[in-house]
Amino acid sequence: ATHEETLGFQTEVKQLLHLMIHSLYSNREIFLRELISNAADAGDKLRYQALDNDALYEGDSDLRIEIEHDAEANTVTVRDNGIGMTREDVIANLGTIAKSGTAEFLKQLSGEQQKDAKLIGQFGVGFYSAFIVADEVTVRTRRAGSDAGVEWRSRGEGEFTVADIDMNAHGTEITLHLKDDAKEFADDYRLRALVRKYSDHIDVPVRMPRTETATDDDGNEVEGSEVVTWETVNEAQALWVRPKSEVSDDEYQAFYKHISHDFSDPLTWSHNKVEGKLEYTSLLYVPERAPFDLYERDGARGVRLYVQRVFIMDDAEQFLPLYLRFIKGVVDTKDLSLNVSRELLQKDPQVDKMKSALTKRALDMLKKLAKDNDAYQRFWNTFGAVLKEGPAEDFANRDKIAELLRFSTTHTDSATQDQSLADYVSRMKEGQQKIYYIVADSFNAAKSSPHLEIFRKKGVEVVLLHDRIDEWLVSHLTEYDGKSLADVAKGNLDLGEIEGEEEKQAQEETAKAKEDLVKRVQAALGEHVQEVRVTHRLTDSPACVVLSENDMGFQMRRIMEAAGQ
Ligand code: ADP
Ligand code: MG
Repeated sequence: ATHEETLGFQTEVKQLLHLMIHSLYSNREIFLRELISNAADAGDKLRYQALDNDALYEGDSDLRIEIEHDAEANTVTVRDNGIGMTREDVIANLGTIAKSGTAEFLKQLSGEQQKDAKLIGQFGVGFYSAFIVADEVTVRTRRAGSDAGVEWRSRGEGEFTVADIDMNAHGTEITLHLKDDAKEFADDYRLRALVRKYSDHIDVPVRMPRTETATDDDGNEVEGSEVVTWETVNEAQALWVRPKSEVSDDEYQAFYKHISHDFSDPLTWSHNKVEGKLEYTSLLYVPERAPFDLYERDGARGVRLYVQRVFIMDDAEQFLPLYLRFIKGVVDTKDLSLNVSRELLQKDPQVDKMKSALTKRALDMLKKLAKDNDAYQRFWNTFGAVLKEGPAEDFANRDKIAELLRFSTTHTDSATQDQSLADYVSRMKEGQQKIYYIVADSFNAAKSSPHLEIFRKKGVEVVLLHDRIDEWLVSHLTEYDGKSLADVAKGNLDLGEIEGEEEKQAQEETAKAKEDLVKRVQAALGEHVQEVRVTHRLTDSPACVVLSENDMGFQMRRIMEAAGQ
């Protein structure tokens, strides 16, 4: 080896390696899923680049992944004939973590095994998971179309070495030297089972060697007669291409884990083949857990895009609106060109049509999920605040979205958001025309607001809004089922038909009797208030501040102030 240099891992890699080795012990087998997944991605990338440059195949366009083991040497090797890496690629990809937000993410880890295992799962441990089972990893790789091979070696302890090597085939070969307690993986049966578990759905064949020996007439092995044949172990067909009826739940779940890097099963999925003006197949999933970058501006979102089975890009965000950014999945279409780029996607009217179709699919999938209260509640607790961005972003679907919203209300007086607007409407009082809500900074502030006194007294339910996004939501969702949404803290309280004639009269009389008091208070407060008036919205508190109908709400004001407005 020549031009050898030893480099240090980026600090985040060191942290990640340390945490991973300690928290993923009981999930160790995922290293194979990650390595196969990278090998399959490398094949996808080569196939894509070879579209305009066939020479990159170097005469070997038969993409495949090979897995071998050596029980004596305690090694497992994963080899692909995909795109490969240059020396610069190796240093960047296998020495740093390019994902934004990594440092933030690592801070969230607590050191508690189980919690961290879940968090790390969402992060996608990738290549570095090799060190959960290996005390030394060697990567030999050559970029397709280049002559320079590279060898990378590391014990996962803070540094790695890179050197130039000669390599015949393009692609990447990764050899793990197993730790003493991970020798179980250097086993043909174990490896085959794992390949089937994690890789049936990827469309590259994963092959393993089978050694056969000839026997003589007496049944004895003929010395030197061993023949090694390569056997394809996985199904090797893209999962979404298969008919729904032939794909098992386990397979759908394994595929979800492949595309999302999540350890947990998804809550639900929807697999559809569309033919007609637009032709595409989609497979969308609702995860159970939020990715660490759900609220980050440049967090990963969108679907994996394929054009006629050829992988085009990850995170194609043009196919789903932002408020559905938690949805994971695959779209494969005939209606786009293989040369499509992110820029072209933005302008393509076909993409807009697919986006609106996929949005409907996703909303329908959530509607179905909502039939299972328990599962839907788990979904809502994790992603509800994101879905609440919907009515502002997607006016056309706001009724569908409104059906999916869940809130805290005075009906349960619980912080759990589990009441739908339909539930609220079904409990509306005789003569009640509006859906009442209050917005506050916290559930407790909302629940104990003096504005609610009159409503509680009259038994009229009020929606208790306390998420940061809520004021934004109600500024775009102004009615539901023909009933307008009304802020109990704004303007003149009009309880409409709920109040009887007698009550109204009594109120007017009180107002007259207190005219003097009102004038005195008005004079005392002067310019600090717009108006002072007698109210019947309070039953226990003597006074409260209300906003006029057109004023910006308190929450919104704070958001604007924070934004320097
Ligand atoms: P991810 O796959 O999420 O990008 P990984 O940690 O699994 O993260 O891999 C890091 C990067 O290393 C990949 O994005 C890819 O660029 C490179 N890489 C890993 N394995 C291979 C491989 N077998 N062939 C080519 N590149 C690879
Ligand atoms: Mg990977």
